Amino acid sequence: MNKKKRAEEILQILREVFTLPRWISEGRNPFEILVITIISQNTSDKNTEKAFQKLSKAFLITPETLAKAETTKIEECLKVAGLYRNKARIIREVSKIIMDKFGGKLETILALPFEEARKKLMQLPGVGPKTADVLLLFSANKPTIPVDTHVKRVSKRLGLTPVDGDYECVRRSLQLLYNPEDYLEVHILLILLGRKYCKAIKPLCKQCPVKTFCPSKAE
Ligand code: SF4
Repeated sequence: MNKKKRAEEILQILREVFTLPRWISEGRNPFEILVITIISQNTSDKNTEKAFQKLSKAFLITPETLAKAETTKIEECLKVAGLYRNKARIIREVSKIIMDKFGGKLETILALPFEEARKKLMQLPGVGPKTADVLLLFSANKPTIPVDTHVKRVSKRLGLTPVDGDYECVRRSLQLLYNPEDYLEVHILLILLGRKYCKAIKPLCKQCPVKTFCPSKAE
């Protein structure tokens, strides 16, 4: 079976096994997604959620409000998520830049053509390729597959991307295998597979729903 066909079979199985999380359809605005992504660096989803809730209770999550907020007050809200001093500083800085250079709207960047928008996003503090791709995919429906640690590990084990591929190589390899309208599902479903079965240490190959299509499965 060729790689593209195998990739399609894997996606089909994952669609049947997992349910997409509800938050996908809850429609957060781009700035909220950016703040959540900054908070989520090196911390669990649970702590990200707690910190974001606390920040939302203390402040309106807008560039205008957060650009003027006292850094120590932002820090207080983010403590549970770790690296809180750094994250608070980045959130404040990025808010100021969005206010000063983009009229207070991240949408101004997201409306640009894909490559230009991606480049501008990556010039913002705290925004690397993954955060840029998350914003482009989730907030602007642009054709990209963000590659987090799960997507990278799982797609390599499944033989969908080269084992020594870097971020760009993994992203582009996956994009060649799937249709742009499926990119969001591919991103989410590979993460869910990685969390539940294809764990970094001791993957649960015997129970894995896509083991038939996996060249790395443990016997
Ligand atoms: S069979 Fe094992 S290595 Fe392959 S995707 Fe499933 S859990 Fe990962």
